[in-house]
Amino acid sequence: MNVLIYNEFRHELDPNCRASVIYPNGMHAAIAEFLEKEEDISVSTVTLDTIEEITREKLRATDVIIWWGHCHHDDVPDDIAGMVYEEVLNGMGAVFLHSAHKSKPFMKLMGTSCSLIWRESDDLERIWVSAPYHPVARGVDRYFELPGEETYGEPFGIPTPEETVFIGWFTGGEVFRSGCSWQRGNGRVFYFQPGHETYPTYYDPNVQTVIKNAVRWAAPTYRVTDCMGCPNPPKAHEWK
Ligand code: ZN
Repeated sequence: MNVLIYNEFRHELDPNCRASVIYPNGMHAAIAEFLEKEEDISVSTVTLDTIEEITREKLRATDVIIWWGHCHHDDVPDDIAGMVYEEVLNGMGAVFLHSAHKSKPFMKLMGTSCSLIWRESDDLERIWVSAPYHPVARGVDRYFELPGEETYGEPFGIPTPEETVFIGWFTGGEVFRSGCSWQRGNGRVFYFQPGHETYPTYYDPNVQTVIKNAVRWAAPTYRVTDCMGCPNPPKAHEWK
């Protein structure tokens, strides 16, 4: 399975940001490191500086894309965001992490504001499994805790998820739909909330389990290789 990780990779380069200490090689490197240990997964990464590497050909060879962005969503070219959107409709899986809720491809796939309430106050987060039967929850106990995370709260401006797999609760009192799934065209989309850049969230074993599960769940089952914008129905397709 080919996984492509996009990370904006800006906070980690800022010496005044804790992210530069926690993730000296970038969050994409931390995520790639645990995914690469899986025999069935091969990983490549791309950052905002190398975003032109995201081509149609590259996406067609990608089973699942993972997306992390925050302050530079607008710097992602529209044509690249549009290609990611189209390839999800064709069948590519997509996992959006944390502040990627406001990324161009996620917003286009959702069609809603994707806004939420947020606060940085070092709250502990308890992440409850609300759909224990779901493949993305496999291997996770009833709940797990992150000693520090950015607080995200409802209302979260998403279309009602097909499955809400995780619900986060924060010591400040907020709750949040922290793990949500949708089908979009032939493709599967998963949103997972933990992962603020100033916390070591992507080193947490439960978070790693969820991301590995989400990648495997989102992998294509049916994929059209013609562009969705063709005037004729797709001729070529393949079962994955
Ligand atoms: Zn954040």
